[in-house]
Amino acid sequence: MTRIESVRADCFRIPLPTAVADSTHGTMDAFQLITVRLTDSDGGTGVGYTFTVGHGGTAVRSLLRDDLSEWLAGESCDEIAELWQRMWWRLHWVGRGGVASFAMAAVDIALWDLQARRAGRPLWRHLRETVDWLTPADSPPTVTPYAGGIDLDDPIDVLLERTQGRLESGFRAIKMKVGRPQLAEDVERVTAMRELLGSDIPLMVDANMRWSVDEAITAARALDGLDLVWLEEPTAPEDWDGHARIADEGGLPIAAGENLHSVAEFRELITRGGIAYPEPDVATVGGITPWLEVARISAENGLPTTTHGVHDLHVHLLAAIDHASFLEVHGFGLEQFIAAPLAIGDGQAVVPDRPGHGVELAWDKLASLGQKTTPE
Ligand SMILES: [Mg+2]
Repeated sequence: MTRIESVRADCFRIPLPTAVADSTHGTMDAFQLITVRLTDSDGGTGVGYTFTVGHGGTAVRSLLRDDLSEWLAGESCDEIAELWQRMWWRLHWVGRGGVASFAMAAVDIALWDLQARRAGRPLWRHLRETVDWLTPADSPPTVTPYAGGIDLDDPIDVLLERTQGRLESGFRAIKMKVGRPQLAEDVERVTAMRELLGSDIPLMVDANMRWSVDEAITAARALDGLDLVWLEEPTAPEDWDGHARIADEGGLPIAAGENLHSVAEFRELITRGGIAYPEPDVATVGGITPWLEVARISAENGLPTTTHGVHDLHVHLLAAIDHASFLEVHGFGLEQFIAAPLAIGDGQAVVPDRPGHGVELAWDKLASLGQKTTPE
């Protein structure tokens, strides 16, 4: 049995190359990266990470440093799902999602990374080989990325110009923000985007929870006819029945999940008919272990699984399942700190074949940013 020797947690402020905006979070100029570096009793290492949109990251780090690190030392690295359950119940009183799920995600990802690296396999293959409901494969299936623009404030000409750049860099699917003060503005912008893309390039829109249920139904009907793959996060994430109404009465497939931080929440939204595209985020739902559980529930309900953010990790998870939808790709500025960021070639993501998740963070460069110590 291999045991956890040490757990190191850090929190870094990652400045964005350009500020971005959506309908709920306003203008964002930095994200927070919370990392876990784990070593085992044989000298093996694993890295996990989660992120925030600029606030709360030091609380995640505190949970890791002040509670989980010491408790995890000496635990077995071998039975990750069992350890995840014990972590969940240890933090249950202050958790059941939220900050606890972020901290657990960083640990769980590091454990899977460590295990896959010890096995000498890329993470996607290791999952297919070791998780009972997944199927082994000689080569990874196709993973189709889309460029997730965080572009609500961009004037239309800038929006189209940036999209053109994304097409030139290899993307063959695009997502844009909606939720402008006037619905007519959204319709005008999405129409302009559809004209730029033509009929062959898939297009999604993301409202970041901006609307009431009735507003969302009105918006979905106004956007119907523009050949959208999905409408994402039309309303408050925990309004299960509201999502089902929007799906029924609005006429567009609904995607959601980046603001759900537990498997139980996903089970509610999926089984109540609220969504067509479950969108778990491995870094905010508690890690790879619960991400796979959400994917399993999705498959049981006949739904494809898509992703939110952290594409360097999600490329492995979509390659590990047989019911994958699109891979969201958006920068968050992290690519400048990764040795080999995700590569896109002619509409497809290159699934890494390095052992583990293969994300090598530039620790010296991160350290030069300084630890995040005070609230924004
Ligand atoms: Mg989104």
